Amino acid sequence: MQKLVVLGAGESGVGAALLAKQQGWDVFVSDSGVIKENYQKELDEAGIKWEQGLHTLELIFAANEVVKSPGIPDSVPMIQQLHTRNIPVISEIEFAGRYTDSKTICITGSNGKTTTTMLIHYLLKHSGVNVEMAGNVGTSLARQIADGKCPEWFVIELSSFQLDGMYNFKADIAVLLNITPDHLDRYEYKMQKYIDSKFRIVQNQTEEDVFVYCQDDEVIASELPKRIFRSELLPFTQTDILKRGAYSTIDELIINYNDETMSIFSRDLSLQGRHNLYNSMAAGIVAKVLNIRKKLIRESLLSFKGVAHRLEKVISVRGIEFVNDSKATNVNSSWYALECMSSPVIWIAGGVDKGNDYNELMPLVEKKVKALICLGTDNQKLLDAFGNKVSVIKETQSMEDAVNMAYRMGKKNDVVLLSPACASFDLFDNYMQRGDLFKESVRKL
Ligand code: ADP
Repeated sequence: MQKLVVLGAGESGVGAALLAKQQGWDVFVSDSGVIKENYQKELDEAGIKWEQGLHTLELIFAANEVVKSPGIPDSVPMIQQLHTRNIPVISEIEFAGRYTDSKTICITGSNGKTTTTMLIHYLLKHSGVNVEMAGNVGTSLARQIADGKCPEWFVIELSSFQLDGMYNFKADIAVLLNITPDHLDRYEYKMQKYIDSKFRIVQNQTEEDVFVYCQDDEVIASELPKRIFRSELLPFTQTDILKRGAYSTIDELIINYNDETMSIFSRDLSLQGRHNLYNSMAAGIVAKVLNIRKKLIRESLLSFKGVAHRLEKVISVRGIEFVNDSKATNVNSSWYALECMSSPVIWIAGGVDKGNDYNELMPLVEKKVKALICLGTDNQKLLDAFGNKVSVIKETQSMEDAVNMAYRMGKKNDVVLLSPACASFDLFDNYMQRGDLFKESVRKL
């Protein structure tokens, strides 16, 4: 019997284990942390051996193949040793992809993946397509396949870590939203490595496949001439007019595909802001490729309810608006958040810095931010960057404190924006907990 070892027992790892067991593999799951109780139970019920709190190398090195959780860096000695021993290390999506005939729409980028994945899923569902959503959002692909799901399409959100472990998998429709520095700590601080990882989204594509990408993204634009694409290229842009693809005018989003044109007033789109216009364009192109009727595309783009923790309006208190953008864990997403703001901003930022360069935020911060509240265990980088740019800077390590401070400083028509530009795990479990605490503290006001 072929032996599969699964490293990391989160949603994707457990999904992979369940699918592997069902497919006749001898499966062993190993997690150096604590495995959630519900997952332990599932593994037990499926008769899958597992361990937690350690990695027993002898069992791991006996594998024919290893499925690695996206959270485990390639640089850890155990993974290096697997490479030396020529034991293939793959990601859950690569593994799961072997056991499905469903077609795939795969979305990656530094920002906007979840929003765009959910938007595309919503649009296709609304249009009556047999579709499921997987990847970083919700239920893992492997688990859905193990559960017998075989929709016509899977819409899959792919992080660069998932992509790193993908070799033979192919996206029928690949969407690349943008590439800006993120997670560089996992790429030896080499931007090119991160770029190469993102471009794996088009690997194995053929003439029958489609590559949807943002033409305005400088990194993507400079990579295109260096690479060979077999798939059909369908760009989207806010600075050009395209015969094929999507673009915008002052007030409209226009999609041109196969001699058909459709347009939607941007102000009617349910997702507002420049970044979201890109996301709507990407979703619109995918829908056209799938031959969805214009009426249904329009209806969906107008009725989609946004996603929590992404520029989510909480409430206004005394005329001060509170916006939760906790999911902004890098500089670029905070750039878009600040760019959208039309009132003076009290900005709550900070957390775990992933190699941030704050320079690109300077013009926006100078123009819009009246106060900065640094919410992290180590705020030095923020203080250094913005010390001379923002007149009021405060520090705290409590969300409630941050919200109270912001409230005291705020005047009617100000916006309090939580858009940290940093990861959350110095003070919080994850960005969702950070956002929830923000909302809770705001509601207490
Ligand atoms: P991801 O899944 O890639 O992390 P999300 O959809 O969760 O992306 O959004 C993360 C953050 O990025 C949010 O703050 C959101 O407002 C912002 N964002 C969404 N779409 C884009 C985009 N196309 N470009 C830049 N920032 C974006």
